[in-house]
Amino acid sequence: MSATKLKQSWQDALTDLITDPQELLQVLDLDDNLLTSARAAAALFPLKVTRSYLARMQKGDPNDPLLKQVLPLGLELKTVAGYSADPLVEAEVNPIPGLLHKYKSRILVTLTSACAIHCRYCFRRHFPYAENNPGKKGWEKIAAYIEADLNITEVILSGGDPLTVNDTMLQEFIARMADISHVKRLRIHTRLPIVLPERITPALLNALTRTRLKIIVVVHANHAQEIDAQVQQALTLLRTNDVTLLNQTVLLKNINDNVQALIELSETLFAAGVLPYYLHVLDKVAGAAHFDIDLNSAMTLHKQLSDQLSGYLVPKLVCEQPGKSSKTILSNSFLTIA
Ligand SMILES: *Cc1c(COP(=O)(O)O)cnc(C)c1O
Ligand code: SF4
Repeated sequence: MSATKLKQSWQDALTDLITDPQELLQVLDLDDNLLTSARAAAALFPLKVTRSYLARMQKGDPNDPLLKQVLPLGLELKTVAGYSADPLVEAEVNPIPGLLHKYKSRILVTLTSACAIHCRYCFRRHFPYAENNPGKKGWEKIAAYIEADLNITEVILSGGDPLTVNDTMLQEFIARMADISHVKRLRIHTRLPIVLPERITPALLNALTRTRLKIIVVVHANHAQEIDAQVQQALTLLRTNDVTLLNQTVLLKNINDNVQALIELSETLFAAGVLPYYLHVLDKVAGAAHFDIDLNSAMTLHKQLSDQLSGYLVPKLVCEQPGKSSKTILSNSFLTIA
């Protein structure tokens, strides 16, 4: 490889994803015996992973915590009672295309269905995205909806991954939201700073800082190994541009369901300027049952975490229950008061 090779742009990196299970196994020196089942599962929810994220996986280790988040497995094809296509019943809170309104003070907008990585446990793996790409014409309907409801003080951009959208479009959307006087904050839920850190460019920072809205970026990392030097650098750039950084994690069996892994994750996040926000219990989406942990174990784990970390390093353990006015906080701390 030539030493003068130009650095790949984030757009190029986004089109240069690993989508072929065979390539994934080869790059990681893994046994071909995983291939048949990987192909079968990828036919339902395609394999997708960035080269940057792949580079952080340990070669030859089929149990690598990053690999397990993206490798399609035959287990996904099993039908398990209690796991469904739309566990959050989002269809009922989707008043107009691209907009979800579940909680009083904030709405969630999906600008795109694209992600840079497909997380096998994702609760949106069956979401009817095609009907939820509002397009620019849809923005006016969304803006009108927000204008009509003075309770809405925060607009959340969420998955697909909103940072897969180009800077001009983001800037235009942010400007439209900033026109609505009761909107104070714009929150971006994104995995890109973690899986495609090259996305954090000066142009993006420009788009995020040239607005009166307070910007919050909620990243999604599940394991300390996801945060390498380049990710740290990207996060630092966001922080030094006045972006509030939070992280959400999904509790995943055999990936991060042990106290040591969770402590390390919180410590590593904080060192990179990110506060742990939520630790989600898995949403019961069909195809992801093998990642699930029973509630008692989750609460025990969370208690152990609280016993060992500064309070601000302990994420809130939450689950989503359809029809509730906020996420549900799970805690067994009352049990230990007596
Ligand atoms: C999770 C979620 C939010 C954000 O909830 P917070 O508790 O404020 O983080 C907003 N809207 C929808 C539809 C959500 O699922
Ligand atoms: S929406 Fe988030 S969790 Fe789901 S596949 Fe995309 S990046 Fe992964």
